Amino acid sequence: MSTNEPLVRFENVQKSYDGEILVVKDFNLDVEHGEFVTMLGPSGSGKTTCLMMLAGFEPATNGNIYLNGKPINNVPPHKRGIGMVFQNYALFPHMTVAENLAFPLEVRNIGKAEREERVNRALDMVRLGDFGNRRPAQLSGGQQQRVAVARSLIFDPELVLMDEPLGALDKNLREQMQYEIKHLHESLGLTVMYVTHDQTEALTMSNRIAVFDDGVVQQCASPSKLYERPDNAFVANFIGENNRLMGTVEAINGENATVKTDSGDIVVATKINVSSVGERTTLSLRPERIFISPEDNKTPNTYSAMVKELIYHGDHIRTRFSVCGDDDFIVKVPNSADNTSLIEGKEVNIGWMSEDCLALDG
Ligand code: ADP
Ligand code: MG
Repeated sequence: MSTNEPLVRFENVQKSYDGEILVVKDFNLDVEHGEFVTMLGPSGSGKTTCLMMLAGFEPATNGNIYLNGKPINNVPPHKRGIGMVFQNYALFPHMTVAENLAFPLEVRNIGKAEREERVNRALDMVRLGDFGNRRPAQLSGGQQQRVAVARSLIFDPELVLMDEPLGALDKNLREQMQYEIKHLHESLGLTVMYVTHDQTEALTMSNRIAVFDDGVVQQCASPSKLYERPDNAFVANFIGENNRLMGTVEAINGENATVKTDSGDIVVATKINVSSVGERTTLSLRPERIFISPEDNKTPNTYSAMVKELIYHGDHIRTRFSVCGDDDFIVKVPNSADNTSLIEGKEVNIGWMSEDCLALDG
């Protein structure tokens, strides 16, 4: 094994099922040893197809996939040494939990004594030590999914692929399992490629996230980079909440773009992917980065705003303003004693820093 190579490399990979439409258009991704990389995107954007090509269940139409620097296009699935977990668990219903876990070891001709030892270790790892003799139908959804995770790890694969593994679980269980999988990733030093359409799940678990749309990776970066510095309007909208103001670029000055909103207000923003005067742009502003009644000169962008609605959320007040022509401008105001200026129907000044206002493609 050459350790300088990424564990996984997708190089100019394309996929068409019908010979006409490319459902994966030009996929390039390196996954390093020990990374947790998530493919995040709407349904139908090509995430599962990419995992299937890596696992060997679908051929790539064009391009190359490498494992440890070696092309695997012609290596059959069971020789790739990759563990997999699917959304529907895919446990064998007629087998006990222990038999399910032993199956991948039997396929690999591992002897009975070692099988038993590994099965017991795997059951303990997912805290199901007493459940080896049950059948899948006698387990809860969360327990079945823990068996599926244990089964994917039983032959010590270096790489595990997980395709929406928690999609069928309710919210509490899903959050608990997110931490369990993350913990296994860290304690076992695994490399994980994970698929989800749930952005919170992706942000919680991943070292890096590849944001998919329509067969194309829009951006691949760390969770904080995606949130703080999205490359384009699709990523800004897909990751986290944002307010959007439409406008036209009036001037470009170094890092900044001066934008005239369609309401006629002038906003100084950070230039992301606009380049010239006259271009249409979407300004993106996160609801937690807005100041209420900012002190003089604190924010270069300050506007009079009408309070439309206050919704109590305990730790913060979700406040809807009408400002710069947007009647649905959301601000998360921390719940503190100095919020008395916020009264529905009254005007206050609100403002934001240029670095918190991104000028993205219109
Ligand atoms: P995702 O996992 O992001 O929801 P998929 O990779 O499953 O997306 O699907 C991408 C596109 O490929 C979709 O338009 C889907 O209908 C199509 N597709 C997926 N699998 C097949 C298949 N086996 N045969 C034909 N079309 C498929
Ligand atoms: Mg899918």
